[in-house]
Amino acid sequence: MFSGWGSPAFTWLRDGKAIKGAVANCYWLTAKDLGHKVAVRVTVSAHGEKPKAKTSKSVTVKTSNTGAKLTEPFIVKGIWVVSKQHRVKASYIKMGKGLTGSDKEASDAFKKMQKAAKKAGHSIYISQGYRSFATQKAIYKRNVRILGKNQGMAAPPGGSEHNLGLAFDLRSGSARSYAFGRSAAGKWVARNAWKYGFIMRYPKGKTKITGFNYEPWHFRYIGTAHSKAFKGSKLTLEEYLGLV
Ligand SMILES: [Zn+2]
Repeated sequence: MFSGWGSPAFTWLRDGKAIKGAVANCYWLTAKDLGHKVAVRVTVSAHGEKPKAKTSKSVTVKTSNTGAKLTEPFIVKGIWVVSKQHRVKASYIKMGKGLTGSDKEASDAFKKMQKAAKKAGHSIYISQGYRSFATQKAIYKRNVRILGKNQGMAAPPGGSEHNLGLAFDLRSGSARSYAFGRSAAGKWVARNAWKYGFIMRYPKGKTKITGFNYEPWHFRYIGTAHSKAFKGSKLTLEEYLGLV
């Protein structure tokens, strides 16, 4: 009776540890792999024989399949991804002739949202829009001094969406920060932002994914074609773009 080798089994490894679910003969690199060593282990077994395994040389991942490069921002589905890991260089800055020097389209969308909020009885204003590298540097330095490096708020220069001109921190009267989140206006924005192309970028309980604490005041413009997927959910941009 013929007893040949069975089909090979694949295990993909990140820094020597098996990547959950990566068991096919090819593996699609993600942003998670950036800067890590990836290898594949192939195991073959035959009836009555001990399985034989061979592990490939590991390779340090510098680019993901989405085109992400370490220390560089990247664009997925037409959306700029900027985070602590993916920073914009000064030359990437998307300056527009909008409010506070922000992107024009994002500013126009904000004005629309502001009008709709007013109709619903809420006044909302921008307390922070576009932020220059120099400002971000000063904020980062101050935050690190006060809070330490590993807290979930300080973004290094180029690592903030404010540097892109596509994010706004909102307030209602004197209600800023968490007080804004608790205000009727803040709740209205949380519910309705998606209609105007905005998303709450750092929802509650998602710090592990976004790298930032809950920020009920920080809204990021991504356009309505994408933001409609965020309606009534605590989805994060990372989850939406398949980066986690
Ligand atoms: Zn912000």
